[in-house]
Amino acid sequence: LIVLDHVDKHFGALHVLKDVNLTVHRGEVVVVIGPSGSGKSTLCRTINRLETIDSGTITVDGRPLPAEGRELARLRADVGMVFQSFNLFAHKTVLENVTLGQVKAKKVRPAEARDTAMELLERVGVANQASKLPAQLSGGQQQRVAIARALAMKPKALLFDEPTSALDPEMINEVLDVMVGLARDGMTMVVVTHEMGFARRAAHRVVFMDAGQVVEEAEPETFFTAPRSDRAKDFLSKIL
Ligand code: ATP
Ligand code: MG
Repeated sequence: LIVLDHVDKHFGALHVLKDVNLTVHRGEVVVVIGPSGSGKSTLCRTINRLETIDSGTITVDGRPLPAEGRELARLRADVGMVFQSFNLFAHKTVLENVTLGQVKAKKVRPAEARDTAMELLERVGVANQASKLPAQLSGGQQQRVAIARALAMKPKALLFDEPTSALDPEMINEVLDVMVGLARDGMTMVVVTHEMGFARRAAHRVVFMDAGQVVEEAEPETFFTAPRSDRAKDFLSKIL
């Protein structure tokens, strides 16, 4: 579904993605881990074109990423992104956060958008917060609203960039449980996370990045118990 082929990216003199090759199949859950600054966020952001690339190609569903306009808006609906910092519309209610994109980008009728939104809010366990503003919710609740908002666009895939890093420990699991549910339902997901429990529960594959390169890819069990590269061994010795 998502294919990165020989992708390179620089920020000025800094080579942040070095010949990255990655294929994410439909229904697959790929967890991306690696040290700070290794290029994990940049990788995610290139996939829905929040960042451009210098060379190589990225395709989603067989199509190269569109540069602009309506096609780009469609890409971002097809490949939703959930950020560390929730990024909800602060002055809109929870319900509005989940309906707006549907009405604007997908031309769904308001009544239908509202029904879809309530269903999704139910699914992530925050339907009773629908009329509140984001600031009135806990971090874990806000992040679940952000997931509902991404799902409302009926995405083909979802990208998560450290979705639980900004959360208090007791809220991490309520978000991870929603994500595990999505994974079980067959959602295609790329998840940057340090939550190794999530990787073990839900990932089909772990991709380890270091210094802009994909250094190693393996099934979670293999990666955690028998990493091949010294760089992965060193990283795991620090976080496990
Ligand atoms: P972290 O675990 O800390 O989130 P990361 O693996 O997500 O790290 P990136 O955010 O992708 O790493 O950053 C990779 C490198 O690119 C870092 O050295 C970072 O400082 C640099 N970088 C990221 N965004 C920009 C930007 N917009 N302009 C210049 N440099 C950037
Ligand atoms: Mg990052």
